[in-house]
Amino acid sequence: MPGKVHLVGAGPGSADLLTVRAAAVLRAAQVVLHDDLVTPEILALAAPDARIVNVGKRCGNRTNSQGQINQAQINALMIWHARRGKAVVRLKSGDPAVFGRLGEELDALRKACVAYEIVPGVTAASAAASTAGITLTDRNSASALAIVTGHNIRGDKLRTPGLDPQRTTFAVYMPGPDYNKTARELMEAGVDCNAPVVLISSAGRANQKTCFMSLLDLPFAGGVAAPAILIVGEVARRVPGEQGIDAREFLPPVLAESDENRSDVKRLELLA
Ligand code: SAH
Repeated sequence: MPGKVHLVGAGPGSADLLTVRAAAVLRAAQVVLHDDLVTPEILALAAPDARIVNVGKRCGNRTNSQGQINQAQINALMIWHARRGKAVVRLKSGDPAVFGRLGEELDALRKACVAYEIVPGVTAASAAASTAGITLTDRNSASALAIVTGHNIRGDKLRTPGLDPQRTTFAVYMPGPDYNKTARELMEAGVDCNAPVVLISSAGRANQKTCFMSLLDLPFAGGVAAPAILIVGEVARRVPGEQGIDAREFLPPVLAESDENRSDVKRLELLA
C-alpha cells in the first residue's frame, strides 16, 4: 500500500491549540518530520514507536555544521518514507500555509505522485492576537490584514503595495532580531511612527509575553525572546487594564524618563 504525507499545522506550541484532526493524524503517524518550532508537548502525542526527525533549519536553507538538512533533502525524505508505505506527518508550527515552505513541498509531492493532505493549524498571528486580547481586523479602523515577513529569501524590504497603512493591520512574522530595520521599513511603507504596535513572544505557550509600545519604541525590543510576532496598527492600541507590559521595561532610561516630545526626537534619531 502506498503511503501518504499529511502536511500538518501544529499551532503555536501548546497541545490544546492543536486541531482534533491534527492530533489524530499525529497519533497515527509512523514517521514525523518536524520543524524547530514544534514543541516537545506536541511531539509527545506521537506513538512511542513513531520515528521522529527534527528537520528544522532556522534562518536559512543550507546544510550547516550541525548537519541540519536542506529543503531538497526534506522533500526527498517525505517521498522516500511515503513510497515505503509509511504514514508520514510533515509537522510545521502554526499553519503550514503561512511562511512554511508548503508550496515547495507540495510541488515535490505532486511531481513524485505521492498522496498528500493538508491539515491547517492556528497561525502565530491568531494565537498572538488572542494572547494580547486584541482583534486583527476592525470594521472602524482596520479593514485589511496583511501577513508579512521581516525576512525573505531575496533580502527584499518589507513591502505593502496598494494597502492603506492607516487602515491596515500588519502581522509581521520574523520581525527580529533587527527591530530597528523592521521599524524603519514599516515607516518607509507609510506606517505612522506613533502607530501602536504589540510584540508577542511565545504566543499560546506558558511563557508567552506581550509588550505594547509605539513603532518608535520597537528598535529597543531586541531582548524579547524568539519566537516573536509583531502586530502593527490601530488594533494594537493597549486597552487600559489589559494584560501585558509596556515598552518602558526595556527602553534605555534616557528615553523612558524624558518628556514625550523630546524622547520622540531621540527615538527618530536612533532609527535614522
Ligand atoms: N507557519 C508558522 C510561521 C512560521 S515562520 C505560523 O503559521 O505561525 C516562523 C515565525 O512565526 C517566527 O519567527 C515568529 O515570527 C512566528 N511564530 C511562530 N510561532 C510563534 C509563537 N508561538 N509566538 C510568536 N510568534 C510565533
